[in-house]
Amino acid sequence: MSKVIDLRSDTVTRPTPGMLAAMNSAEVGDDVWGDDPTVNRLQAMMAEATAKEAALFLPSGTQSNLAALMAHCERGDEYIVGQMAHTYRWEGGGAAVLGSIQPQPIEQAADGSLPLEKIAAAIKPFGPGLGTHFARTRLLALENTWGGRVLPQQYVIDAAALARSKGLNVHLDGARAFNAAVASKCSIAELLAPFDSASLCISKGLGAPVGAVLVGDRVIIERAHRWRKMLGGGMRQAGYVAAACIYALEHQVERLRDDHHNAARLAAGLREVAEITVSAQATNMVFLNLPEAHAKPLEAYLAARGMLMQGVYAARLVTHLDVSRDDVDAFVAAVKAYFTEAAK
Ligand SMILES: *Cc1c(COP(=O)(O)O)cnc(C)c1O
Repeated sequence: MSKVIDLRSDTVTRPTPGMLAAMNSAEVGDDVWGDDPTVNRLQAMMAEATAKEAALFLPSGTQSNLAALMAHCERGDEYIVGQMAHTYRWEGGGAAVLGSIQPQPIEQAADGSLPLEKIAAAIKPFGPGLGTHFARTRLLALENTWGGRVLPQQYVIDAAALARSKGLNVHLDGARAFNAAVASKCSIAELLAPFDSASLCISKGLGAPVGAVLVGDRVIIERAHRWRKMLGGGMRQAGYVAAACIYALEHQVERLRDDHHNAARLAAGLREVAEITVSAQATNMVFLNLPEAHAKPLEAYLAARGMLMQGVYAARLVTHLDVSRDDVDAFVAAVKAYFTEAAK
């Protein structure tokens, strides 16, 4: 079968031959016993790279965020989060369902930031008197990148300072924080410095098949470790997948820049199509609007040519390890060909 150009997400990447070789030769042990040397190496490496006290390997970003929220908040606490943030909207309501943590969503600005005055207004009093009415506001959770956009670092610093001044901890859903680091030419440690904890996906643009790492203060990571076990995330010979993550971190971070270039190229190509509006492009993502009548036919047209996109009229296209510059050009050419044929 010829190659599929899959722009639905950066989660679709396959392990490279080098990564498979690293997995194949991994030294493993039982990680629930703390015995897996490769998992231990990944955790030590991530703690060091992010300048945090400790790190924990988890099967997914969703579980990593949830374990972090549960580590920061107790039953009946609340966390402040963006209305469109992944931990609030796209994780099945896990914080509320499994953590007994009340989300306090607030409307995000167009760049993904939560306006400081809205954060301040959402923090409830706690303690005797009026404070007995409210859930205890315990945590602020930000997301970077959000919709591919890099949060302005000065905003992050200011938001974290505000949260801290009110006694809150600060967590980052950094599923694509490495994209943010590469795009802003900032080290991952510098980017994560304002946070008590951060969840990083290795299975997105970095290209590992499975895995996320939670980094943060030792106490938070120790608590998250216990929740990970309860949530079913204690894995045995997890070193095989940790080896893939180590390989990704050693070989596939800087190349995220290629994805960003490819996304810019894709956006530029699609801007030449009169029927399409490119509403945004940032890091490895392109968002577009097309006439609703064309959404399904275009999706089918492209699928017949081995090219996948989300078939909604407000579409998101994502570049990654398995999408080359030539693939981007082929995709743009096919979209143009579709509209040329549709006009006949
Ligand atoms: C993908 C993603 C997650 C969750 O990661 P999974 O590994 O898919 O569970 C969390 N936050 C953001 C912003 C994501 O894009």
